[in-house]
Amino acid sequence: MGIFHCPMGAPFYDDEGCIDCGMCSARTEQEMVEASKKIRAYLRSQAASDNPIKKIAVCGKGGVGKSTMVVLIANVLRGKGYGLLVLDTDESNPGLSRLFGFDKEPKPLITLLSRFSSGERNTDSEWLQRGKITIPDIPAEYILNRDSLKFVMVGKIQDPFQGCACSMADMTRVLMEKLVVSDNEIVLVDVEAGIESFGRGLERNMDTVLVIVEPSFESMVLAEKIGYMAGGMGISRVRAILNKVPSEKVRQRMTEELNKRNIKSIGTVYFDPQLNEAGFEGTVLGDSRATGDIQTIITLLLGEAKKPS
Ligand code: SF4
Repeated sequence: MGIFHCPMGAPFYDDEGCIDCGMCSARTEQEMVEASKKIRAYLRSQAASDNPIKKIAVCGKGGVGKSTMVVLIANVLRGKGYGLLVLDTDESNPGLSRLFGFDKEPKPLITLLSRFSSGERNTDSEWLQRGKITIPDIPAEYILNRDSLKFVMVGKIQDPFQGCACSMADMTRVLMEKLVVSDNEIVLVDVEAGIESFGRGLERNMDTVLVIVEPSFESMVLAEKIGYMAGGMGISRVRAILNKVPSEKVRQRMTEELNKRNIKSIGTVYFDPQLNEAGFEGTVLGDSRATGDIQTIITLLLGEAKKPS
């Protein structure tokens, strides 16, 4: 892609959606910082804290158990009657489809862009150009289906010199912006570890960010940074899920630390050897203590949000 993308989605300066932030014309670092402040202030003023839960990003430091949490959260939401679209946007981490019990991966969405860049006529990307996209609009080859679960993968870095992941982030952001989700559907997005995705604005169209936090200093610091970044995008519902917690004492310490960093904890998944084993083997997660912990967390999370009207 390599062209500037307005964070507000305005096609041109002063066109629909433009808030005159100055980002597209910024030439100095100071101008960039000022533009970024304007965007942040605008999005914060627009944010609602009790909007319905439709699009959830699951984030965190590498190794905190993010993908495992995505599987558990998806299973609990499905158990509550929601149709789930899981979007795998982590360009590095393989195997999420396998954790869901699929024996193959869907065709990556990024192949649509590869065709654009090679100049080959693309016949199956028309759906992506529409102003609004629904889940049934996604062609069958890009989506795995099982009962109420649908699985889509943006793409993976596979080869040396393949290029950076910016185009994958752009595609996710656009898809999330256009995707219309019905009242009984939720989109769960597995985001790559760290905060680079926030720098690219990938989470821009999400209403909820769940930060998976393990008992480590780095994980807490990153959670604080994610809270700051998400706030700058106008996402007011940022909640930490404490994971791999060995004791009540550690839970209390973690909660205190997160409070100091203005991150609200929504619940705890205690250390569960069954999860470790399934993670090591890359196998489907069965019922475990962690499933019960996630049940409690999701009930609280759904209770916080406005029901779709
Ligand atoms: S001024 Fe800001 S909002 Fe307007 S087009 Fe440029 S980047 Fe987008």
